[in-house]
Amino acid sequence: MTLSPVHVIGGGLAGSEAAWQIAEAGVPVVLHEMRPVRGTEAHQTDHLAELVCSNSFRADDWSGNAVGLLHAEMRRLGSLILTCADACQVPAGGALAVDRDGFAEAVTARLANHPRVRLVREEVAGLPPADWGNVVVATGPLTSPALAQAVLDLTGEDQLAFFDAIAPIVTFESIDMDVAWRQSRYDKEGPGGEAAAYINCPMDRAQYDAFIDALMAAPKTEFKAWENVPYFDGCLPIEVMAERGRETLRHGPMKPVGLTNAHRPDDKPYAVVQLRQDNALGTLWNLVGFQTKLKHGAQTEVFRTIPGLEKAVFARLGGLHRNTFLNSPRLLDGSLRLKAAPRLRFAGQVTGVEGYVESAAVGLLAGRFAAAERLGRDVVVPPATTALGALIGHITGGHLDAGKGSFQPMNINYGLLPPLEGPRHGADGKRLPHKERGRAKKRLMGERALADLDSWLASRTLQAAE
Ligand SMILES: Cc1cc2nc3c(=O)[nH]c(=O)nc-3n(C[C@H](O)[C@H](O)[C@H](O)COP(=O)(O)OP(=O)(O)OC[C@H]3O[C@@H](n4cnc5c(N)ncnc54)[C@H](O)[C@@H]3O)c2cc1C
Repeated sequence: MTLSPVHVIGGGLAGSEAAWQIAEAGVPVVLHEMRPVRGTEAHQTDHLAELVCSNSFRADDWSGNAVGLLHAEMRRLGSLILTCADACQVPAGGALAVDRDGFAEAVTARLANHPRVRLVREEVAGLPPADWGNVVVATGPLTSPALAQAVLDLTGEDQLAFFDAIAPIVTFESIDMDVAWRQSRYDKEGPGGEAAAYINCPMDRAQYDAFIDALMAAPKTEFKAWENVPYFDGCLPIEVMAERGRETLRHGPMKPVGLTNAHRPDDKPYAVVQLRQDNALGTLWNLVGFQTKLKHGAQTEVFRTIPGLEKAVFARLGGLHRNTFLNSPRLLDGSLRLKAAPRLRFAGQVTGVEGYVESAAVGLLAGRFAAAERLGRDVVVPPATTALGALIGHITGGHLDAGKGSFQPMNINYGLLPPLEGPRHGADGKRLPHKERGRAKKRLMGERALADLDSWLASRTLQAAE
């Protein structure tokens, strides 16, 4: 049987991985990459899978770090990106870092030499022609304007963002609920009848003043000249709001009105930081209105001065960048296809994941799904207990829609996986200290993920053999 090729648009981290997975499944691929015919503001070379900034794929420990777990899962699925990263490693302690040129050259060579891959250097400057059939779109945060406009026309205004405005997210279990309390402003019921939808962290005057001072003194990241990020009213960085006047935040996202401290009802808070549930599991909560350009180290330091967040574990830190991404929870189905045009499947950063590894991971899934479809096999998503399953689950449905702009790019983190009770006692029967309990829990989540991934993989292999 002669199979018609799957077309992949964009030869970055996601598109390269998708093309590899499709080709390895026995299906021909045409990979369209616009560089060097047309460049982006960040890429410097014509290599596939160019790393535009850092040369690190972050922590490589499957038992203690969520991105390390994602590495492990991708290796089990024959990831091209991980294979080439492993082959081009440079010393980086517990992180997986690479010689960037060697890495990108290796990815380019592996794809260029694959008998089922045809590499075409051209910009796809609009929706792909109908005779291409099913297509994987992996054009990244700097998708060329012509294609971005065509997608926007298809999805509708507001459904494709060109900048992110990210507020930090913390894990629920790290919030001190002896200090914070649940309540919606004026106990107003939401559409689901919930009158205590928010978590509130109170500040007295001295705490608020110290917070504003820390915010203004903290180092900020600079925009790159080409990023041209506009400040929209309604999603200004908090430090910019604070610069407009010491009381601005207290009359904006930190206003204390309509709230009563459940622990100390007679103390009227001077300001309140509100957190809103971010995912259906209820494990992740975002700091409402706290989009920021503070450097990451400064964010953890300053935001841990908020009463109730002293021990906060940050699943995501804030940021503002030039970034093209879809409102995926609304637009994509469970296997990454655009509901309005299912022949288009999206992958990589444009789906609202963040980072090299996450982009490649979604490319890996999109490639496998596209190949399965072409081979007439079932498309089955990995279990939600795996890092891969948790990531795709979040972008295609797990995030709770809280209106315009609420879906923002996400790194892999343990808060996306179903919670699991950590052991309270060690092998010697002694009570485990808090830190060790956390470590043991991560290991258990890693073991669960890898076992579930193996079962999923075995069922896929069985189907392929039938
Ligand atoms: C400036 C910047 C710095 C970043 N730094 C980091 C970092 O340090 N660490 C990290 O983990 N993540 C970083 N990211 C985020 C992100 O992980 C990377 O951008 C990652 O490369 C995304 O992978 P991708 O495959 O989705 O997109 P890309 O790797 O950008 O790949 C998209 C490809 O599509 C091509 N393309 C675009 N439009 C078209 C078209 N119409 N036709 C044909 N080809 C097209 C592009 O040339 C590009 O090769 C950064 C992003 C930016 C913008």
